Amino acid sequence: MDVTIKTHSLTQSFGNLKVIEDLTIAIKKSERVAFLGPSGCGKTTLLRCLSGLIKDYSGEIEAHYSNAGFVFQEPRLIPWSTLWNNLLFVTRDEDRIRRSLELVELEEFAHHHPAKLSGGMQQRANLARALIVEPDVIFFDEPFQNLDLKSNIKLMEAVKRIQKQQKWTSVLVTHGIREAIVFAQRIFILSKGPARVVKEIDMTQEEETEFFSPRTAEFERMILEYYE
Ligand code: ADP
Ligand code: MG
Repeated sequence: MDVTIKTHSLTQSFGNLKVIEDLTIAIKKSERVAFLGPSGCGKTTLLRCLSGLIKDYSGEIEAHYSNAGFVFQEPRLIPWSTLWNNLLFVTRDEDRIRRSLELVELEEFAHHHPAKLSGGMQQRANLARALIVEPDVIFFDEPFQNLDLKSNIKLMEAVKRIQKQQKWTSVLVTHGIREAIVFAQRIFILSKGPARVVKEIDMTQEEETEFFSPRTAEFERMILEYYE
């Protein structure tokens, strides 16, 4: 199996507070996985461990990737720079900037300032910035949460469409059950903190799960039984 990230007994504490407990998982190359759990259960901490931002964990993490992109809940665009200039901070390669903007369908808005863009467009800009590094993995920390439903669906479709073309590994953490179902090929349901995997769901047979399909509602009901 070609693996992007593998953990063995990953545990992370802050002082006396244990946030992640004994997590052993493997994320395959080009796979889309979601870690689903309630607020405060340790999702951001997990993502920071997996992406190498936290280093004082115990247990093991094997990471087999070179370029990582990040998409967080807040777009974190520099307000006084145009979208184009925001991306210029990441690379001087203008072709790459153009390609990234095209992929997220924002090429017409390159010379707008962030405040002129809707929340959904700002998040697509955020995605464009992650794509610029030509990532082999992208870490998503609840990127859909602050969006209205329509923008949420549009962003998710953009992520999936581009991921299918470019095949980077995707690691999403979220408390949105539907998002996880629509987004992921494998879902890990986490317990309330400290985060442990209480259930793993293989979604590979459900490639075209849609936001409002009866199948999605069925999964949602099933997942709720495990969800604390
Ligand atoms: P989630 O993303 O699921 O909402 P977090 O990973 O942000 O959860 O936080 C899990 C727990 O760890 C919370 O109780 C939070 O207060 C605590 N925590 C997160 N980061 C730190 C830190 N750097 N120092 C101390 N406690 C932290
Ligand atoms: Mg979080």
